[in-house]
Amino acid sequence: MAVSDHVDLPTFIEGVKRRNPGQPEFVQAVQEVAEDIFDFIQDKEEYHKYQILRRIAEPDRVISFRVCWEDDNGNIRVQRGWRVQNNNAIGPYKGGIRFHPSVTESVLKFLAFEQTFKNALTGLPMGGGKGGANFNPKGKSDNEVMRFCQSLMTELYRHVGADVDVPAGDIGVGAREIGYMFGQYKRITNEFTGVLTGKGLEYGGSLIRTEATGYGAVYFMKNMLETQKNSIEGKKVVISGSGNVATHAAEKINQLGGKVLTLSDSEGFVYDPEGISEEKVNWVKAHKTKRRGRISDYAKEFKGAEFHAGQTPWGVPCDLALPCATQNELLGPDADKLLANGCIAVSEGANMPTNLDGVHKFKAAGILYAPGKAANAGGVAVSGLEMSQNSARISWKEEELQRLLVDIMQGIHDRCVEYGGRPGSKVTDYVRGANIAGFKKVADAMLAYGVV
Ligand code: NDP
Repeated sequence: MAVSDHVDLPTFIEGVKRRNPGQPEFVQAVQEVAEDIFDFIQDKEEYHKYQILRRIAEPDRVISFRVCWEDDNGNIRVQRGWRVQNNNAIGPYKGGIRFHPSVTESVLKFLAFEQTFKNALTGLPMGGGKGGANFNPKGKSDNEVMRFCQSLMTELYRHVGADVDVPAGDIGVGAREIGYMFGQYKRITNEFTGVLTGKGLEYGGSLIRTEATGYGAVYFMKNMLETQKNSIEGKKVVISGSGNVATHAAEKINQLGGKVLTLSDSEGFVYDPEGISEEKVNWVKAHKTKRRGRISDYAKEFKGAEFHAGQTPWGVPCDLALPCATQNELLGPDADKLLANGCIAVSEGANMPTNLDGVHKFKAAGILYAPGKAANAGGVAVSGLEMSQNSARISWKEEELQRLLVDIMQGIHDRCVEYGGRPGSKVTDYVRGANIAGFKKVADAMLAYGVV
């Protein structure tokens, strides 16, 4: 046994901080996983000897590049693009592309790290990656977005490929952006391969990919409640965000008989005591995508609804909460409010929306709490199915894909239960379960490869 192998958790985290200066999101994500993994590998000598956790927490590579484009006024604009390829032990790198002014290397490294565990949890052969740019698509014309996407892909194409790295959408990257990027990839390489997922149905996309993340997060909530002989029917539900994940989560909650009270965006949240019905959700979808509008307009459109500027929705009394906007949007004091108001379950549609303080509070309270890497894995799972369909050049029917999504979410839930049992408690520690189940699969593949 090498002397350095058995460092304690604080020393390990100090090392991560030292090697990744100025990258708080990445350190936070590693710490959240390491807290569980240290305990799990205590008596498992091989994982120590081969420094598995240390290696997973060091991306295979980080590619950063300049993205230069011209706006509609003829100004030359310069952005930075990245692709973080974290780990391909169990399959090609896979993970979304994010366009948002808050994107940094730290944010993308945290997302690629989380993605590695999430993808392993789905049971499909996908490694972990993530990419993006500090580009703000808000307020840009379609032509500006097209020029930006083309410029980004002109560099990115050499680092991705159907068997190498398969990006998808994320914040700020939807069907329009995927179309522009796929078009440019095809033009440069003269190849029609499944290099991106989330494609339009006309050119190799899969049915239910758009709905899959939000629906999956609700299925996970349903699965957790069922362990307590409970259900979504009749529950009051608070949701943050109003993008792809949030609106589809709201749609599925309505279908399963719950009442959605809130949605939000980066300017504030709307509270509708009457409930945000499927019809109202459809209005939000159209407003945010086609009209590229703001959630505040909801309160002007629907009587009785209130807009709360600059606030998050966690103070609204509810039974269930689904954070579906962005990282670190639910802090320790927000967790306190939810718990004080009687919230019994939280399922994360977003990636790392709850900060470490909030995670510790949910765990200590023993509520049903599903971390994003488990609860929002439905999207990447259907992306995995899109890859299979592209390879075989076939399209599966909607019913088949819906059934597979339900099965995959149930499988992820059950893997979390297997590894997240708490002695003396009937409530699973889903964070621990997800971390260990995801880690074990990747770690065992890495052991098989030796030191590479
Ligand atoms: P969208 O771009 O469709 O929507 C993002 C939503 O979050 C918008 O309402 C946006 O508001 C809000 N938001 C973004 N940044 C902030 C911020 N800094 N503060 C407050 N609100 C913010 O993205 P998605 O719905 O696709 O993604 C949401 C989350 O789900 C992300 O964490 C993403 O990583 C995660 N996820 C997405 C998957 C997918 O399939 N799309 C898969 C798995 C996880 P505004 O309009 O004001 O910007």
